[in-house]
Amino acid sequence: EGTGAASILGAGKLEELANITGGRGIITPIVKTPMTKARKRFEGAANSHEDIEEETDDLRRPEFVIVDHELTPSQIRNLERATGAQVLDRTGVIVEIFHRHANTREAKLQVEMARLRYVAPRLRESSNGGGRQQGPGAGESNLSLDRRKIRDRLAELKTQLEAVQRDSDHRRSARKNQLRVALVGYTNAGKSSLMRALTGSQVLVQDKLFATLDTTVRTLQPETRPRILISDTVGFIKQLPHDLVASFRSTLSEALEASLLLFVVDASDPTYEAQLEVSRSVLHEIGADVVPSRLVLNKMDRVDEARRAELLEKHPDAIPLSAHRPEDVSALRETLIAFFEADMVEDVLVLP
Ligand code: GDP
Repeated sequence: EGTGAASILGAGKLEELANITGGRGIITPIVKTPMTKARKRFEGAANSHEDIEEETDDLRRPEFVIVDHELTPSQIRNLERATGAQVLDRTGVIVEIFHRHANTREAKLQVEMARLRYVAPRLRESSNGGGRQQGPGAGESNLSLDRRKIRDRLAELKTQLEAVQRDSDHRRSARKNQLRVALVGYTNAGKSSLMRALTGSQVLVQDKLFATLDTTVRTLQPETRPRILISDTVGFIKQLPHDLVASFRSTLSEALEASLLLFVVDASDPTYEAQLEVSRSVLHEIGADVVPSRLVLNKMDRVDEARRAELLEKHPDAIPLSAHRPEDVSALRETLIAFFEADMVEDVLVLP
């Protein structure tokens, strides 16, 4: 911990990775190479571990190598052999972090399944080459034993998850007629802050990725009649691996049940549009793009007048605010109430 953690490849995202490790490890860029050179190393590693071995000879030996790409099991093996370090690819990192942040039983089960599914094929591949973790004498039989254990454990987890999900389906259908607003968006956009401001609840707010993994549901305060519920869901991440989207379908599907989605973006972040795109595509994947939505431009307190005008021109229907300004939060509350009032009027109008 705190020593020698390193990223040698695709090192453009060091800050993001430092966030991912939640400050637990120090990520040191051992080599700072332009992306093209890094990619060349990456491709070299994919072909033969000797190439990369040569490349890393002049480096201090890292304990971890984190690659901001998907790697195949054999690429991981080659890199591990060449560097003598533990190699985590993008999915590996994300699975690890999700694992640390899962709070509810459902999320815990989902993460453990995702984790085992990630580990299993890597065991299989290392059986024909001999991975770093294999001690002398660790043979095929050990690996097939491990694989069988994983299979059994997965079956067990699946049964448990089904039971938990039946329970939450019950709870969900009980909530069906409730007025629900779901906060969705890229991680760190300010969803938890907004949730807390709207509901007066103690939701964990952290300036790091993945602070929110499970969905929380709270009542809009001061309370309305009928009550309006706000839910806060997992922060979306760029290139969320497909398998993980599948594992988190039930967590994400909270968004499907909402009457209104609030897409929260950090308007002070120049890359907010790309982040919005990520959120949209994840929601599309789970079929939630049919739910009415509004764009919330958060962190407007960090945006100057010119930029503000530009943003509002680009998104005339957006709600600009700062989750830190109580008057903005009250205005959002009024907007939500108005949304449901209009909705109810429509219901009345369609009556025969
Ligand atoms: P989440 O990952 O979307 O739930 O984001 P959080 O609510 O945890 O917020 C991430 C960081 O942004 C925290 O440090 C917040 O204090 C900060 N933040 C949230 N909303 C605002 C805002 O309106 N203005 C400013 N300046 N910072 C904000």
